[in-house]
Amino acid sequence: MSREPLLVVLDIDETLIHTTSALAQPGIKALSLARLGMGEHSLLRPGLDDFLHHVHRHYPVGYYTAASRDYAEHILDAILPRHARPAFLLTRRNCTLRHRLEGGFFAAGGQSAFHEKNLAKVKRYGFRLERTVMVDDLPIGLRGNYGNLVPIRPFTGESDDDRLPRLARFLDALAAKRNMRFIEKRGWESVDPDDYPEWIIERPASLRALRVRAAQSAADSAPER
Ligand SMILES: [Mg+2]
Repeated sequence: MSREPLLVVLDIDETLIHTTSALAQPGIKALSLARLGMGEHSLLRPGLDDFLHHVHRHYPVGYYTAASRDYAEHILDAILPRHARPAFLLTRRNCTLRHRLEGGFFAAGGQSAFHEKNLAKVKRYGFRLERTVMVDDLPIGLRGNYGNLVPIRPFTGESDDDRLPRLARFLDALAAKRNMRFIEKRGWESVDPDDYPEWIIERPASLRALRVRAAQSAADSAPER
């Protein structure tokens, strides 16, 4: 079955890497950020290299981060397979800064502010949202595009993290389906990857429309009084 390719959009921080001043656990690779004038380093999520090889071989891949362009380019230069050609890199300037409402007031700065990503921007690169997923550890940043979100537990340096090999298999199973926005993707992290093809259920175009249609046909077939 040939389908339009699945566009895989990846967040960077806490999805692929974790930038910190803390020491890396044994077995975790770290990337120096000295060239950016930063004293911190980026810890690479276990399985990152294999994961990036896999997705860049099989899918168009774009990156969408709330970080600065300099930082994102530095990271991608270091972690991408040599022949990988990202479809795009969207950064902080492509996000909208939002403030969470707390107690009826706009909370200022800090944790209460977040950058909202707008996946509709992929259309300008020739992709359709029906064939797009975005992997991100911060669901609120994608509140306008929940239907495209593949949530992932934030990576903060754990050496026993196993999400990326599982994610590769989940994306492969998703790619065989038609419309990403009709698929419930929450919960994939606790499912056995062997079960992904059966676990993924593509809901019909619109449950509400189907209900209306069912009610209509029931009314049509009801005996007249
Ligand atoms: Mg993130």
